[in-house]
Amino acid sequence: MEIKLAETAGFCMGVRRAVDTVLDIAQRAKGRRIYTYGPLIHNPQTIDLLKSRGITAVESVDEITDPKNAFLVVRAHGIAPDERKKIRESGVKIIDATCPKVGYVQAIIKKHTALNYTVIIAGDRRHPEVDGLWGYTNGRGIIIATVEDAEKLPPMERVCIVAQTTQNTKYYDRIVKKIQEKSPQAVVFHTICSSTQRRQEEIIRLAREMDAIFVVGGRNSANTCRLADLAQKENKPTFHIETAREIKNRDLTPYAKIGISAGASTPNWIIGQVIDTIEEACMVPRKKAGLLLKLWLWSVRVDLYPALGAACLTIASMALQKIPLSTSSIAIASFFIYAMHVLNRLNRSGESGLIGSFREVSYRKYARCYFATAVGSLAAALALSLINGLFSFVFLSFLAAAGVLYNMKILPDRYRFRRLSDLPGSKNISTAAAWGIAAAVLPLLHSQTAAGASTAVAFAFTFGLVFIRSAMSDIMDMQSDKLLGRETIPVIIGKEKTQIILRVIIVILLIVLLISHPAGWTPALSYFLVFCPLYIWICLRLCDRRAGFSGAFLEGILETSYIIAGLVVFCWYFLI
Ligand code: SF4
Repeated sequence: MEIKLAETAGFCMGVRRAVDTVLDIAQRAKGRRIYTYGPLIHNPQTIDLLKSRGITAVESVDEITDPKNAFLVVRAHGIAPDERKKIRESGVKIIDATCPKVGYVQAIIKKHTALNYTVIIAGDRRHPEVDGLWGYTNGRGIIIATVEDAEKLPPMERVCIVAQTTQNTKYYDRIVKKIQEKSPQAVVFHTICSSTQRRQEEIIRLAREMDAIFVVGGRNSANTCRLADLAQKENKPTFHIETAREIKNRDLTPYAKIGISAGASTPNWIIGQVIDTIEEACMVPRKKAGLLLKLWLWSVRVDLYPALGAACLTIASMALQKIPLSTSSIAIASFFIYAMHVLNRLNRSGESGLIGSFREVSYRKYARCYFATAVGSLAAALALSLINGLFSFVFLSFLAAAGVLYNMKILPDRYRFRRLSDLPGSKNISTAAAWGIAAAVLPLLHSQTAAGASTAVAFAFTFGLVFIRSAMSDIMDMQSDKLLGRETIPVIIGKEKTQIILRVIIVILLIVLLISHPAGWTPALSYFLVFCPLYIWICLRLCDRRAGFSGAFLEGILETSYIIAGLVVFCWYFLI
């Protein structure tokens, strides 16, 4: 089965800019209420998230009770000059997030209306963008939606034609042709935005290439409906869906190749969930490979795969430190990491912390089951550490308490940083440090060996791999993190800079591993472990949403770097 995600799927420049503007204002509103003039985007889940951050949609400025203390964001569609005047007079501070491409059409209409042209707008009269555009015609504009509407128009002397930015290009050309039959001197502007045009061209290509098409986005979103329309016209089974839930119980096995596209206001994480669900629905459990893949993805989803990864990294750390392999130390690290991952996810799930994650459904549905297994794992880790010695037990108890406290609210809601996890970038550092301690330090305590340079190498190796994996997941979750107000490293410094930092860490890891044996710190195993950073370097390219893989698949791919470490150790033991 092949899944292909359209390059153009998801937020367009105008929508992304509007969302960023609103979130930016939310950061520095200083007690002022924030409103958007109509829903910012056609997506109920995103609207709920914005609401949770104090951003409310209003249909009229009259709904704002305290205008002097409010910001009103004009969304990407723009508004009519009359409405803008009314808002200004109310005393509300306007934040203009009108898409520059819509602004360009407004300017054309304004200019030609002043020159006494009759402006014809080809578009949907109920759409807010068209409503705003018409406002610039001083009441003299004409809105037409179909070729039949164009046919009914009389010949006109001074006429200017523009299109709604999300119109169908070919249909607009037909409308223009029809008008020019009676008014050949009409001034025509091709105002369909290039992003819309590319999206439409791509869906046609995709529909021709694939066996079925999924178009993701609101049913009230004009541009999404148009994409579904275009795919249908290519005579391919087309499914217009709003969320992944609509795929459940659909038999997708007849389709060997599935294409996915999405409207300009569909968030990335919804697209990710759709890919995830389609991937799962297309697996054929009767076939061995399908069953294995399903099992692997399930282990990633329920956090068993990282627990296995923790065991592998502990084995590698012990081997690097020349500590005899201890099954209890391996089990402690594995149980502990599993428990911390699950407890922290459960802690966050109550506050939309899992929105956007492929784990959302499973964690909400089986919360009790997850809680029981996490508490059981933590108890097992503590019991094993007690057998290893009182010091190990106290140390692990302290670590576990710090891990649970990390996501707990310490300060009241009015503070920006209410819990340790709210501190920018703290998640990546604390997660990597916890793994480093569990894999490199705890086994050392158990073996009662003195710490040395090899301990630092083992810690750095685990810390580096876990940090990279955690930051790469954050890159993929940037859009939902922004909406939720999570200040992860990519949200603060951007995707490109984060990737540069990750590349630097990989290079440092490679250097450390290559020099530590000649320096006499570690056995020759460190040479072989360079496979792990090299593998993760390759993954940097894969972890782009455009690669068309699901979130679970990508996380599994990243966590495989831990498994590789374990495999390398076994090969090394086998070879020497
Ligand atoms: S579709 Fe084009 S014109 Fe409309 S908001 Fe997006 S970038 Fe702007």
